[in-house]
Amino acid sequence: MRRRRVLGTTALAAVITAISGAAPSPAHTGADARGGEPILRAATTAETIAARQRYFGSADVDPATGSVRRDRVILSWVGVTNFAMAIRGHVVLLDAWVPRGGTSGYVPSSPEQLAALSPEAILIGHAHFDHAADAVAIAQASGATIVGNAEQCAAFRERTTSGMPPRCLTALAAGVAPGTTAEVDLLPGVGVRIMKHLHSAVTSPGGDSTGYHMPVTPLPSTTQVEHPPTPQDMLRLFGGLADSEAGTVLYRFEVGDLTLVWHDSSGPLTDNAPSALDALRGLGPVDIHVGAIQGFNQFSNGMRDIRQYIEAIGAPLFVPSHHDDWAAGITTKGENYREPLDTELARIPPERRPQVRFISDPADYVRPEALTFPVAFDAPRLTRRCVGSGRLRVGLRGDLADVREVSYVLGRRRAARRTRAPFHARFARSTLRAQLGRRLTAVITDVDGSRRTVRRTIPSCGLRR
Ligand SMILES: [Zn+2]
Ligand SMILES: [Zn+2]
Repeated sequence: MRRRRVLGTTALAAVITAISGAAPSPAHTGADARGGEPILRAATTAETIAARQRYFGSADVDPATGSVRRDRVILSWVGVTNFAMAIRGHVVLLDAWVPRGGTSGYVPSSPEQLAALSPEAILIGHAHFDHAADAVAIAQASGATIVGNAEQCAAFRERTTSGMPPRCLTALAAGVAPGTTAEVDLLPGVGVRIMKHLHSAVTSPGGDSTGYHMPVTPLPSTTQVEHPPTPQDMLRLFGGLADSEAGTVLYRFEVGDLTLVWHDSSGPLTDNAPSALDALRGLGPVDIHVGAIQGFNQFSNGMRDIRQYIEAIGAPLFVPSHHDDWAAGITTKGENYREPLDTELARIPPERRPQVRFISDPADYVRPEALTFPVAFDAPRLTRRCVGSGRLRVGLRGDLADVREVSYVLGRRRAARRTRAPFHARFARSTLRAQLGRRLTAVITDVDGSRRTVRRTIPSCGLRR
């Protein structure tokens, strides 16, 4: 195994102290201390279409409207654990910071471009600067709702240095225990669940039955030399260094036949909140797990904590994040984490070991094809039930989240039109009798205007012609 060493730079110490919250907070003292935070300009429709084509791929974005294909989950990485995500056509951000300050121009993205995506929501894992420093500005420019726990929402109100504080949906109350979950009513047709867990932290080494875990301290890279930071970006970074964590939460998304979990830090649950491991097990079954593999625990327990998340969540596919060179000088190229991750995953029995879709910086930044997943929906089916004598009740089953309107045709007669779920209709005896032996058709119009039809025979419900 390649030899690794701990970096002893003062920058590392300063950043670690600041992120861990051990230092007295010099931030939140006004716009100047934060390097200012101008409200970004709202994007035009053309800019939104262009941004969505770039972040989600031209093939999956309607060039006329900018809407994203609904039968896909697409993640576009912009560094650390920050992703733009399209899910059932909803555009959201997972965390909200474009890494800069340690470097400039390394991540080919900007807060302006993320705002131009016109996201509906910004889901925050925790409020440290490398996850949330651009949240307020992007929300203000795009009108997106920030989602988080009560502590995070309070932090974003406090961090609003100009304009109105953005809308923040409090999905978990203040002070709840790790493992607490709640459903978030946010995106039609997408189940969203939030769960409190823990931020990465140093705990005593080797604290589990699988033995000693090698500290992971990869060698630095030359990214900072190749992409030196501008003074403006450095000011922006240092303005946010003391931002509070405000509690760490993860999200589980369920859409059609696909379930995805994302978390932006991986805490020492086995040491500090073992019941949260049970809560992770309760998230299953999960298909795709996107998780942070870099954190403070790497210096004491290597990849132990993330491996425990992986085992508890049990997804067959794991996507690592937070391992890129987002703060050159204290971080390194993501590729350097490949070997320690593989070594740790080898502790999982082969039949339960996930496949890893390793993403690397900078090649996989804003590369939607790296993380595009198809989604299948439960197709609408016609239901028919005879009620009373000679009357018929019809409806639809299946995934109806995208349905806007249903027209029922009995035989040759257009019999009912419904515009609200669950799209039920009843037909009287006389209507039914006239159409016996013919077919019942439902013409289903989706929110994007597309149409499909489903047909079944008309039951006689005891009637004769
Ligand atoms: Zn953090
Ligand atoms: Zn972080």
